[in-house]
Amino acid sequence: MAGPTDARAELFGALVEVEEQFAWADLDTLQTAVDLEERARVLGDEELVMRARICQAKMRMRKGEIAAAARQVREIEQWGVVNDSPPVRARAHLLWANLERHVGSFAEALEHSVLAVELLEDTATASTRVWHRAKLADALGQFDSMELARSHYRQAEELAARHRLSWLRMAVLNNWAYMELTSGFSRDAHQVARRLQAAAEADGLELEGADLDTIANIHLANGRFAEAERAVEQAMAYDESHGVEEADSRAEYLLTLAAALRGQGEHERAQACLDACGDLCAQRELGDVLVRLWQEQAELHAARSDFEAAFGMYRRFFVAYRDQHLSLQRTQARDRHAMFEVSEARRDAERFREQARRDQLTGLRNRRFVDEQLPLLMNGPDQPLSVAILDLDHFKLINDGFSHDVGDRVLKRVAALLDNELVAAPPAFAARLGGEELLLVLPGVDAVEAGARLDGVRRAIRAYDWQSVTDGLSVTVSVGVAQAAPGFTQADVLSAADRCLYAAKHGGRDQVVVDGHRVQEALRLS
Ligand code: GH3
Ligand code: MG
Ligand code: MG
Repeated sequence: MAGPTDARAELFGALVEVEEQFAWADLDTLQTAVDLEERARVLGDEELVMRARICQAKMRMRKGEIAAAARQVREIEQWGVVNDSPPVRARAHLLWANLERHVGSFAEALEHSVLAVELLEDTATASTRVWHRAKLADALGQFDSMELARSHYRQAEELAARHRLSWLRMAVLNNWAYMELTSGFSRDAHQVARRLQAAAEADGLELEGADLDTIANIHLANGRFAEAERAVEQAMAYDESHGVEEADSRAEYLLTLAAALRGQGEHERAQACLDACGDLCAQRELGDVLVRLWQEQAELHAARSDFEAAFGMYRRFFVAYRDQHLSLQRTQARDRHAMFEVSEARRDAERFREQARRDQLTGLRNRRFVDEQLPLLMNGPDQPLSVAILDLDHFKLINDGFSHDVGDRVLKRVAALLDNELVAAPPAFAARLGGEELLLVLPGVDAVEAGARLDGVRRAIRAYDWQSVTDGLSVTVSVGVAQAAPGFTQADVLSAADRCLYAAKHGGRDQVVVDGHRVQEALRLS
């Protein structure tokens, strides 16, 4: 019979499979990822729920729903931070990097790519580790840091080779070669392309059409026109023999071939390629390819010394290129704005949330925060947990003898002295319960230690120089401390502390009472 552990292992395997579809995942995967999330939820495994949701966000991005994907990825990353889950964070940052790259923010893309590698767990599959590193290399390449990119491509390639991930190794080399080419390092690109070919041969794999087209373009950049022609013909042959019916790639190949032929002085054949490419562009509305077709046509006119035609065609190319560029920038700006708005709305919501959980006068946490957090902390890992209730002594006299305003300033000062004791030590926190009653919550601290610490606070308040606030009239507090016993509710522990506070008041004020016993200064010093 299959137990829950088997069910998790099975789900985990299915999830990793979806995660590792990397660049090639199709849109059906969205439904698969939704189903996986549901299964993870049934198993009660939040981390796998989040990982399934990352896969969904990735599909959303591919469908062009940039803002929705960004919102989802931010939420998931936040979950990863709160729940301290590096595996979730690493995958969220990888997708985040993709989103940033998509909107043309390469510096941000790089930052997220670095985190995607740093946070990735050692136990991640080799494929995932290769891919995260390759994406970091891509981000560095796009950030004009080819030097650094190379070392990461190398590591990714070695890792893929070591684990016999032939297909992935070729993908890495292809990305690497392409990045060298577009960064203007055509000789380095040539070297990498040769390694790509050698790797394919060694592993008995065929290079795909797109790989061969990259290689052809690298040959072009190096002035090796005959080799370029051979490579692009192989690309066409590959697509034909594998039944790839992609007009886009065929139009691309024809352009590459035209340039290769032009370089060899075969102007007629080059023109035939451009004409065929033009037909495809018209049939399939391939606007992007058409722009580059005009560029190549201008080059071909020039090669035939028809400079007037070349100039006219070049103008046509230039206008179209500029429009294309502007339209891309507009799209990117719109998507970037959508992503930004999401983050702004989030920040506003967070600020509002934070404000709603603070006391206006003292800046301490408020009752609402206590009600939300104390029960969680009482069931959290930091045990034992102690609470202390502080109440100002004869506060009415301060209000009456001076003013309400002075009373407020006294409250603020006491709150600050109390906060000092914590020196920002979450999960411990100080809160104002209402009026002149303050609360200190100390997870991982027993009642004896809490009593000693609170007695320090009490003495600090009494010893404080009150000159500027109350003309030197000393302010004191009474404190009741209780430790949460097993099975205690929030109300139980607060009323236990309250009883001690009552005892402290009756014992003469300006003292700390723990479990019915007054904390003695002499004892503390021994
Ligand atoms: P003790 O606690 O020592 O028994 O005496 P007390 O005078 O402090 O006792 P009590 O709880 O009866 O009085 C609390 C006073 O605190 C009453 C109220 O006017 C004052 N108070 C409550 N909230 C505020 C506030 O926000 N600002 C100021 N200035 N005074 C407040
Ligand atoms: Mg009081
Ligand atoms: Mg009171």
